[in-house]
Amino acid sequence: MRLLGVLGGMSWTSTEAYYRGLNVGVATRLGGLHSARLLLHSVDFAPVAEAQHAGDWDGTARILGAAARGLAAGGAGALLLATNTMHTVAGEVEAAAGIPLLHIADPTADALLAGGHRRVGLLATRFTMEQDFYRERLEARGLEVLVPDAADRALVHRVIYDELVHDVVRPESREAYLEVVGRLVAGGADAVVLGCTEIGLLLHDGDAAVPLLDTTALHVAAGVDWLCADHPD
Ligand code: GLU
Repeated sequence: MRLLGVLGGMSWTSTEAYYRGLNVGVATRLGGLHSARLLLHSVDFAPVAEAQHAGDWDGTARILGAAARGLAAGGAGALLLATNTMHTVAGEVEAAAGIPLLHIADPTADALLAGGHRRVGLLATRFTMEQDFYRERLEARGLEVLVPDAADRALVHRVIYDELVHDVVRPESREAYLEVVGRLVAGGADAVVLGCTEIGLLLHDGDAAVPLLDTTALHVAAGVDWLCADHPD
């Protein structure tokens, strides 16, 4: 089996879901006692989040680039960067490692298009909702991306950093998120992307009037495909 490098810890609460999902996916695909061949570098999130909030994206790229180089040196053949937000420096991380990075927005766009969606809402950190790197990757595939208004973006961002990355799941935050989803649907969204890898702790497909696409699950599935691609079984 190929060896996949996972850059995690952003936050650990979603990396836990990646670890479980990659192993369940490989075991389901290959059967028997098969499990995922992984090299995981789970970073300390504090300096990464501090650099994010200071706008020091070069600093985040240095931290993640060094970790990615280590994964490549350890024999990983590709990288999963287990966070949507940090894909803002995906190019730098991929260049530092010298191995392919499986971009989280690509399986997301594939799933949206396969589901016949064209106008999609995006729930994510403020960085992912307000910067271009993520929206443009979806728009390049012909999708229209709607983001919540400023007050809703602040709410969604706060719940991620104050609750979900600390493994805190509050029913009132779930209700608040569903209200944000409702406003995106009222604005014309025919699906909503859970574009932060922790939102799966709070919302699941079926909770709203439109499909909710969990980027963690879609990214994990892309990782499982990559891991199993050369396997003889
Ligand atoms: N895991 C989150 C994401 O997918 C947010 C934490 C981070 O900034 O990496 O964007």
